[in-house]
Amino acid sequence: MLFGRYKKNPIKIADKQVKDWKYATCGYCSTGCAIEIGVNEAGKPVASRGVGGADVNRGKLCVKGIFEHELFTSAGRGDQPKMRNEFHEDYQETTWDTALDRVHKEIRSIQEKHGPDSFAILSTGQLLTEEFYTLGKLTRGLIGTNTYDGNTTLCMASAVSGYKRSFGSDGPPGCYEDFEHTDLLIAWGSNLPEQHPIIYWRMKEAQEKRGFPLIVIDPRVTMYAQMADIHLPITPGTDIVLQNAMLNVIFAEGLEDKDYIEANTNGLDELKAEVANYDPITAAKICGIDEGTIRVVARLYAKAGAAMSIWTMGINQSTHGSDGVVGINNLSLCTGNIGKPGGTSLSITGQCNAMGTREWSSCSGLPGYRLLEVPENREEIGQFWNVDPEFFPKKRGLVHTDIYPAIETGQVKGLWLIATNPMSSMPNTERIRKTLEKLDFLVVQDSYADVETTQYAHMYLPAATWAEKEGCFTNTERRVNIVRKVTDAPGNSQSDLWIFNEVAKRFNAENGDAVNFPEKSADIFLEMGELSKGRLVNISGMNHDLIEKQRGIQWPYTKEQADAGEIPPQGGKRLYTESTTFSYPDKRAKLIPLPFINNNEVPDEEYPFWLNTGRLVEHFHGRTKTGKVANNNKYSPTPFMEINPDAAQALGIQHGEYVRVISRRSDAVVMAQCTDRVSKNAVFIPFHFHDCANRLTLGLLDPYSRQPAYKQQAIRLEPISDQKAAALLNKESRKF
Ligand code: SF4
Repeated sequence: MLFGRYKKNPIKIADKQVKDWKYATCGYCSTGCAIEIGVNEAGKPVASRGVGGADVNRGKLCVKGIFEHELFTSAGRGDQPKMRNEFHEDYQETTWDTALDRVHKEIRSIQEKHGPDSFAILSTGQLLTEEFYTLGKLTRGLIGTNTYDGNTTLCMASAVSGYKRSFGSDGPPGCYEDFEHTDLLIAWGSNLPEQHPIIYWRMKEAQEKRGFPLIVIDPRVTMYAQMADIHLPITPGTDIVLQNAMLNVIFAEGLEDKDYIEANTNGLDELKAEVANYDPITAAKICGIDEGTIRVVARLYAKAGAAMSIWTMGINQSTHGSDGVVGINNLSLCTGNIGKPGGTSLSITGQCNAMGTREWSSCSGLPGYRLLEVPENREEIGQFWNVDPEFFPKKRGLVHTDIYPAIETGQVKGLWLIATNPMSSMPNTERIRKTLEKLDFLVVQDSYADVETTQYAHMYLPAATWAEKEGCFTNTERRVNIVRKVTDAPGNSQSDLWIFNEVAKRFNAENGDAVNFPEKSADIFLEMGELSKGRLVNISGMNHDLIEKQRGIQWPYTKEQADAGEIPPQGGKRLYTESTTFSYPDKRAKLIPLPFINNNEVPDEEYPFWLNTGRLVEHFHGRTKTGKVANNNKYSPTPFMEINPDAAQALGIQHGEYVRVISRRSDAVVMAQCTDRVSKNAVFIPFHFHDCANRLTLGLLDPYSRQPAYKQQAIRLEPISDQKAAALLNKESRKF
């Protein structure tokens, strides 16, 4: 194929010799792009392309998806179970039977000595939904520990908590199609073009057709903020002050939707009493947005026919994360912007299957958004699984971020980490390092043997990744889509489902194989479908083949709809329309007052800069994958810091020099990139790099969601005279 100046030096695209294209769903972010992987005559994955007929991405992929086929042959994969002896000497290869027998023995031994909850299981947002469901059945139904959670606490817990507090259940109410109907969009703490490029493209295309105003609220002049009609550079961690002030204006000027509030909500009087304290003049002094702008934005939002709010980590990763989500929901409910085309409150999820774990993993309860605290829910699942309901705990146990302190105090003695790497992803990694060293038994199950946490483990289990196995993901807009198996996993590694089923066999044998564990992903999906009947997350009308045929189906999609021949995704586009009411017993949503208490670590004389962390378009999370895909890594191989040119000059720091960043926890060496994207008292460091941003973060926890505040902490900067030595230190952080 020839492009460009075809008569002189044309660009030649190599023929990859693709023999067959196999269907999957992208395994990076939660946008949920449908992707096809091209395999050659020998069955080797050689190309990736977007699926034209898929509604989510309509043929497009971002820079991560385009090179996703290169993952299958990337460096650092594990291919053999390994374990250390009792003296924690070097890893030795072992067989699966030996390894899994030891996992069973160690879990039971720790539980017998220290109690059932002394062994912790930490999962992820990376697995397939059928795998999450099976792990939940194993953990809740057989192992019996209540110390069980996922790394989604680090990214989406505040959204989950905020949705539950406002609406009575988790579940994002809107969809991407809402961009095509909205009259105004507010993005709270979301840099959409870099974090979710294909959702951004959907939004941009809709905006270019209809010209709705875009308002971006972010302390940093992100790529998204540069494209906004109005950018509000808010003081970090003060979103609920702005939300309260907007409601103050809306109520004062009678702009609320009185009929909607009357018919669908509780708590108006209490909310009004609280927001009366946040007049725009007072609020401006706290949140840094001037009074006039607060009034303009409040009026634009309330007067729009349909107004939409989206958000990501700028809201969630805060000590006020859950409140920030409730604040967005308060605004949506008070203006009638829920459940109607273009009027919604839509969390943009992080990992490819963060939604799947929320729905089906049983981490925070029981499958299908059931709660441990509700006796009928325990009874229902106990009967379905053939487990005594009394075996289930009666309330949720420790969450992810509380498990590490429990290891420090000796309450937790053993840990099974599944596709999560706390030595890269947790705040204050120097403390995590010491915490992991205290464990009596740590098993790491991961596709990559070179993740940092394996250094502290007693056992490593090699797992298949993404399209080396088969099953479903749910994306940000509740769309269930399928990953078909494209190729085999390397060496002796096995799918996570196989590993869970093998572990389950060992625990199941203790009680006469009472619990059924289907081996095939398609059968597990049908079992989940049975359990979803009558629930908000109803997937009973779906099966793997139908999902692939439709290129994804949004839930709810019921068996009744399927039997009636309704073509998906009818009925599943939006929640809280007339057909799905709020999940509180009286079917009404809650308006919740949000007093602001400033409890962040803030800059002071000793540590005068805000540290903000976030993502880059070419990388995903800890670079476990993208750091090894050459075409992603070469765009951004070096840990760096954005610093305002005036601040850099005042400190004698030159653009491109290495600088030491110091917090009260530890320090890191990064390259200075001078830019006006950040204000004079703030720096930004991407969180992707090993031993870098998270050495500095404090990670104060949100009181409701227990999600860490990665984006609000104080640091100071030191120029480095020995730039050669600094370059070596910086290089350490480029490791995978
Ligand atoms: Fe994959 Fe997300 Fe990029 Fe789509 S936008 S190709 S889902 S990383």
